[in-house]
Amino acid sequence: MKYTVDKKGFYGKYGGAFVPEMLFPNLDELEKNYNKIINDKEFQNDYNNLLRDYVGRPTPLFFAERLSEKYKCKIYLKREDLCHTGAHKINNTIGQILLAKRLGKKRIIAETGAGQHGVATATVCALKGIECVIYMGAVDIKRQAPNVARMKMLGASVVAAESGSKTLKDATNEAIRDWINNPITTHYIIGSVVGPHPYPDMVAKFQSIVSEEIKAQLLEKENTQNPNYLLANIGGGSNAAGLYYNYLENENVKIISVEAAGEGVKSGKSAATSVLGKTGIIHGSKTLLMQTNDGQIIEPYSISAGLDYPGVGPLHAHLLESKRAEFMSITDSDAMLAGLEVSKLEGIIPAIETAHAFAAFKYLDFKTNDIVVVNFSGRGDKDLDTYIEYFNL
Ligand SMILES: *Cc1c(COP(=O)(O)O)cnc(C)c1O
Repeated sequence: MKYTVDKKGFYGKYGGAFVPEMLFPNLDELEKNYNKIINDKEFQNDYNNLLRDYVGRPTPLFFAERLSEKYKCKIYLKREDLCHTGAHKINNTIGQILLAKRLGKKRIIAETGAGQHGVATATVCALKGIECVIYMGAVDIKRQAPNVARMKMLGASVVAAESGSKTLKDATNEAIRDWINNPITTHYIIGSVVGPHPYPDMVAKFQSIVSEEIKAQLLEKENTQNPNYLLANIGGGSNAAGLYYNYLENENVKIISVEAAGEGVKSGKSAATSVLGKTGIIHGSKTLLMQTNDGQIIEPYSISAGLDYPGVGPLHAHLLESKRAEFMSITDSDAMLAGLEVSKLEGIIPAIETAHAFAAFKYLDFKTNDIVVVNFSGRGDKDLDTYIEYFNL
């Protein structure tokens, strides 16, 4: 297996667990138990029942006729926007809350940037009646008021991180500090395929339901389990990991990963890690990240809050380096136009993160028979204000 994690928690040269010694026992407990728990029959039952009855899975695989006509190939949309809470993130938080319960944890912490992962975490904590503390940069709390209100309605405490730039990385530092202080009672739910081993692998496994469903759905619609191309946007890389997971070792299925170029890769306002990133350590993992020559993290920028992350998960760094995946960088303006186009052609308003994947089509050449599956990672309601302002709607 070339693209799954090895025994030491690495994908090629990326991954591992580079954390303070104080966190070793927490990660050790997780690492020793996560596969056993995930593969347990009863766990699988609980997980699949909640995915069906609470999240609303399986999500449809929709043939996008008008987009297909325009881009001259067969475009299918995996409708993760139809999941409860409006995006794929809940697939992971459902899995982790069940895992935390089985580890006997009484309290959940998480970090959030734009608030999407905070909402997905607060949702499952309400569902299971578990105490929930969300760390969020003070600047982000101001910028993302509706998500802060959602978390509070769901019963979570939202704690402001007041250090540094008061954004995501500062919230992450606070969450890690909390975990060090509460190792026995608390589980830390990380929201993407990032962080120290075993998080990237664990989150990828919880998201792998996406490609598992696609195999069965494509078989029914196209008489084959395998598309020619998979296309996903990448922030940390969890919706992409879910889309790719069951196809990684089948190199006939090509992979295209779309990052946010922001105002342009060379503009100084970008989040295109595949171009700008260098090997380093972020959130306890060795991966590609945007950093200065002396190793300070460069603040990323994208119009979409979910892609505004200075690194990619170690799996994706490995897929880039091994050339298993082709990476593209899409600017804010291309993404916004694609968001409008998808809305008008298919009657589905995408999250701006999702719109980045669609913007790639005008730069790609497919054959008319190519089957291209796009992960429709989230719905656009949360981005309505940004669309309104951008297009003067
Ligand atoms: C958070 C988010 C993303 C980016 O996160 P990944 O871990 O890369 O999937 C993409 N789309 C939507 C709708 C999101 O909420």
